[in-house]
Amino acid sequence: MIEEMDFENRIVSPEYNYADSDTEISLRPKSLDEYIGQDKVKDALSIYIKAAKLRKESLDHCLLYGPPGLGKTTLAGIIAKEMGVNLRVTSGPAIEKQGDLLAILTGLNEGDVLFIDEIHRLSRNIEEVLYPAMEDFSLDIILGKGPSARSIRLDVPHFTLVGATTRSGQLTAPLRDRFGVLLRLEMYTPNQLAKIVMRSSNILGIECDNDGALEIASRSRGTPRIANRLLRRVRDIAQVEFEGKITEKVAKTALARFEIDELGLDDFDRKMLETIILNYSGGPVGLETLAAAVGEEAITIEDVYEPYLMQIGFLSRTPRGRCVTPAAYEHLGIKPNSGTQTSLL
Ligand code: ADP
Repeated sequence: MIEEMDFENRIVSPEYNYADSDTEISLRPKSLDEYIGQDKVKDALSIYIKAAKLRKESLDHCLLYGPPGLGKTTLAGIIAKEMGVNLRVTSGPAIEKQGDLLAILTGLNEGDVLFIDEIHRLSRNIEEVLYPAMEDFSLDIILGKGPSARSIRLDVPHFTLVGATTRSGQLTAPLRDRFGVLLRLEMYTPNQLAKIVMRSSNILGIECDNDGALEIASRSRGTPRIANRLLRRVRDIAQVEFEGKITEKVAKTALARFEIDELGLDDFDRKMLETIILNYSGGPVGLETLAAAVGEEAITIEDVYEPYLMQIGFLSRTPRGRCVTPAAYEHLGIKPNSGTQTSLL
């Protein structure tokens, strides 16, 4: 059991947290040109946007999928800006009643972008209101109850729904089928993240050289949100303990202080991998069992912690459960077969 981990404030969590709020908006790229990386997604979007504008139509509904912090909300804002329309932001869990969605849809203007984050968490009865709205831009509203109930049809403006989800597999088929454009966001390379760090340091007025940016980038788990957060934290140390400028040495010292290693793994990652190695002989271990052992929710492990560990080849998902790979043993400096259960065999 991992004790005393402060998950909410974990520095390398890709999820938005309160500490990001003061800079997240100012750091958001506002155009496709400013948006770094994701070339395939950008190329596709720029064609669809140009075509829709030529035809003077609203853009097809778009589904963006990929782990948190990769730039889905940012892209929704860019789509609205490039189309010259307003953006309305909400999320699956925030739309509780059909009336909430009706109010949002009837408040839109022609062509507007409606961004629904975590769209896989919409409830079924809300999805049912959404289908005709997405397809025919109309709403079927039931008035009254029982035998006297009647249904009326209401038109809504031609809007573009941009849905974001951490995994498209969780979306119901009828909802997924109603998106004309499906775009998958990839994790960023260290070089792309270094560009993002340099861009952010210019905006925030932080002095940072290329090597310093690359050092932060390579520990940011492929995720711009983490890169920006680490940049701010490293700046604090640079200002208090050094002369203010972020160099490779300053970045290394600061990140070591936060116990974030060269690959961006923190205490939690290391303890989770160690738990699988020492308690379950390196796996396979079922997700629920692992979640209980490390004191975290299964869904959080799956969506937030595992994608990066799998990306760097430290963890694999098998039908029988999670397994730690030899590369992870090597990184942690643990010899294979040193797990307690293995050595008992
Ligand atoms: P998501 O919606 O996928 O969780 P966001 O769009 O909120 O992610 O992005 C998190 C932060 O990362 C944003 O504030 C933005 O500054 C930064 N960011 C994301 N993608 C990019 C990018 N391609 N280029 C530059 N900065 C980016």
